[in-house]
Amino acid sequence: MKVSVDHDKCIASGACVLAAPEVFSQDDDGIVVVLQEQPPAELEDKTMAAIRACPAAVIWED
Ligand code: SF4
Repeated sequence: MKVSVDHDKCIASGACVLAAPEVFSQDDDGIVVVLQEQPPAELEDKTMAAIRACPAAVIWED
């Protein structure tokens, strides 16, 4: 899987980091930072949970 985000529309909630801290982080302003654009198979469930958890729906899987 490949993960993409729309940084401009991120509302800095941090839900993605709670769901998948191996894949997502936040910068000093709280905006999402993708740590692994291609998460390994063992992180796919967590990554999908992060996608569902994002209140702004700005994470998607390519
Ligand atoms: S869950 Fe969505 S809105 Fe919140 S920090 Fe992550 S990408 Fe941004």
